[in-house]
Amino acid sequence: MTEVRVRFAPSPTGFLHIGGVRTALFNWLFARRERGKFILRIEDTDQSRSTEESIQAILEGLRWVGLDWDEGPFRQTARMDLYRQHAMKLFEQRQAYWCVCSAEELEARRKEAQAKGLQQKYDGRCRERGITNPSSEAALRFKAPQEGQTVIDDLIKGRVVFENNLLDDLIILRSNGYPTYNFSVVVDDALMGITHVIRGDDHLTNTPRQIPMFQALAFAVPRFGHLSMIMGSDKTRLSKRHGATSILAYRDMGYLPEAVVNYLVRLGWSHGDQEIFSRRELIEKFSFEHVQKSSAVFNPEKMVWVNAEYIKSNDPKRVATLLQPFLEQAGLGAEANAMPEGWLEQLVVALRERCKTLVEMATMAAPYVQRDIVIEEDAAKKHLTPDITPALSRFADRVAALAEFSHAALEKAFMEVLDEHGLRMGQLAQPVRVTLTGRTASPGLFEVMELLGRERTLARLRTGIERAKAARP
Ligand code: GLU
Repeated sequence: MTEVRVRFAPSPTGFLHIGGVRTALFNWLFARRERGKFILRIEDTDQSRSTEESIQAILEGLRWVGLDWDEGPFRQTARMDLYRQHAMKLFEQRQAYWCVCSAEELEARRKEAQAKGLQQKYDGRCRERGITNPSSEAALRFKAPQEGQTVIDDLIKGRVVFENNLLDDLIILRSNGYPTYNFSVVVDDALMGITHVIRGDDHLTNTPRQIPMFQALAFAVPRFGHLSMIMGSDKTRLSKRHGATSILAYRDMGYLPEAVVNYLVRLGWSHGDQEIFSRRELIEKFSFEHVQKSSAVFNPEKMVWVNAEYIKSNDPKRVATLLQPFLEQAGLGAEANAMPEGWLEQLVVALRERCKTLVEMATMAAPYVQRDIVIEEDAAKKHLTPDITPALSRFADRVAALAEFSHAALEKAFMEVLDEHGLRMGQLAQPVRVTLTGRTASPGLFEVMELLGRERTLARLRTGIERAKAARP
């Protein structure tokens, strides 16, 4: 059996779109499942629109979601000789011809055809002219077949039939010597041994143009699979209007790469009603049979739900690593780094049930990471009142005297103080929570104290007691 070889072939004309990542992901999963090769090819022949910055964003985005490539990144601009050689081969075989029609002439004829309600394609004027020594203004056109049909046995859409008489004699080499997309893609897919071309269905109408070129060059024709587009909730093609579409924007908003992958794979593919998949499961279970023909709708709420699920269930060590840059951004980097080993993981475990993104987690982390905290005004007013100071002081003394500063010992001391002062849980828990975190909502109290450690717990309790004493009853 021949090895499966697939490719992702982005044009570096902007950021890496999440739709592109989904295309790359389906190719990658198929390659990994079949133990084949995933090839990265940068289609940068459009010099006016391609940028180095965009190439770097593509590589960074793919690396972030963990889609590693086996070959490449190839750049089409480094392969120009190959396109020219193959274009000349077609010319020598009389399957391509020089066309000297000027842009103005072509435009005038196009308008005329439009006015008459005729098909607007190149009229073949230079087809039989037999030009061999063209002027610098000439472009090379492919002689597209005009009879019969081109049939695609699409991996996703099934059988798709195109009438060849609709095919245009496409320019394959421009007068400036640059190849056009439909030609360079054929030469590359053939020379790179691509067995399956999996791409967005915005390219479906290009496929019948490309297949005859493979055939004319005596190349094996790959299998094709066209993925339907991702839509916004209003059923128009996903764009900035529907929210962020750049993959790196999701990284910066505090999404986990594995959550993004999990969400994107489910946009158009399913395995029963399972929602959460490990990467290994995805590789095992992915197949084109279960890729849907209709377009998928992007749902930002579901994406954030998937992210929250991953934050909750992922290895806390991994979440802690991913959290680090967000702590730095929040100005908490130095203090977080000074914490003992394993502390950040403990923080993740304490906070993970309550946050949907790493940005939220970093915001929530502040009172645990910082040396000094700011107590919210309303919380202080409500919970730090003079009547609670005896119980608070008693609790602080007990904490200071504990032989072992542990969850169980802290809880025992707390319960005893409640008993001694005839208080209900909430009557003391909220004042303690506010003194320790500055807020009225937090993870479990004893978890909080463990995170803070004895010294900071005591310091904050003492500050809280002073504040409560000074408050007006
Ligand atoms: N460079 C093309 C694009 O970004 C993809 C071409 C292909 O997959 O055949 O749309």
